[in-house]
Amino acid sequence: MSDWYEWQQAPAGSYAVIGDPVSHSLSPKMHRAIYRELGLKESYEAIRVPLADFDLAMERLTEIGYKGLNITLPLKFKALDWCRSTDSERYGSINTLRLDDRAGANTDAPGFLATLSGLELKNKQVLVLGAGGSAFALVRALSESGFKVKVYNRTTEKALRLASAIPGVEVTLEPNLEGFGMVLNTTSAGITGEKLPLDWSRANDDCVAYDLFYSADLTPFLIDPASQGLKVLDGKAMLIEQGALSFEWWTGRKAQRSAMYEAIQ
Ligand code: NDP
Repeated sequence: MSDWYEWQQAPAGSYAVIGDPVSHSLSPKMHRAIYRELGLKESYEAIRVPLADFDLAMERLTEIGYKGLNITLPLKFKALDWCRSTDSERYGSINTLRLDDRAGANTDAPGFLATLSGLELKNKQVLVLGAGGSAFALVRALSESGFKVKVYNRTTEKALRLASAIPGVEVTLEPNLEGFGMVLNTTSAGITGEKLPLDWSRANDDCVAYDLFYSADLTPFLIDPASQGLKVLDGKAMLIEQGALSFEWWTGRKAQRSAMYEAIQ
């Protein structure tokens, strides 16, 4: 069995994560662990879908029986355009689709918020790096939860677009880390092993460095703050929460987070 498929070669199945790239995703391991735990005969694959092929891929995956998809980069905005009903429109992107009625949900936002409860952030100023699909949802979630958000993105125009859609959000042209309670990396730079050029010596002592990306070792983004003794968190906890919420949205059944956690260690 292959670890992932091109959409044209994907076998018939029930659930999958689609994106480009998708080979790094731990979602298959995690969802299969839920199925084992609950004795469900479902399948979960990783399928590469380039942005330009999105509509054709959705047609094919629907035809061959897929019931639900998780959506990863760079397809989350496209998924919102594709779906016919959602109560997550304000998050600006969709990471969970039901195919038979083209319904969509964003579980990134509530999944991310669930991971903040253990951090006890007293300083509510957050610097968000990146302005892609995940940033849009998380900035909305942070703003609605009383955080004051500044956004920095390599392409300033996208940061401005994000800020214009969410009241109270500011854009900064320089990622100065001073004064923030949390610096949240939503860029995909880590996928290629790239480390963002940031001066962590300016960060507050109680600043939490949070990377949405995850890997077996410390992610490139987290290396410098960890060496400075700052609290760091990668994207695995959020991966579990958003995946559990997707499963619950699709099936109405409770997901076993402990089994999911064990599966991705
Ligand atoms: P998008 O493709 O929508 O956005 C990517 C963002 O990263 C853009 O703002 C882009 O900037 C920026 N970027 C890409 N490469 C670089 C670079 N080399 N230097 C600086 N900025 C860069 O992706 P998503 O928002 O869907 O996902 C972003 C990341 O978050 C991914 O790593 C993904 O795996 C992770 N993620 C993790 C989740 C979890 O559960 N743990 C859930 C969701 C996402 P520009 O606009 O200039 O192109």
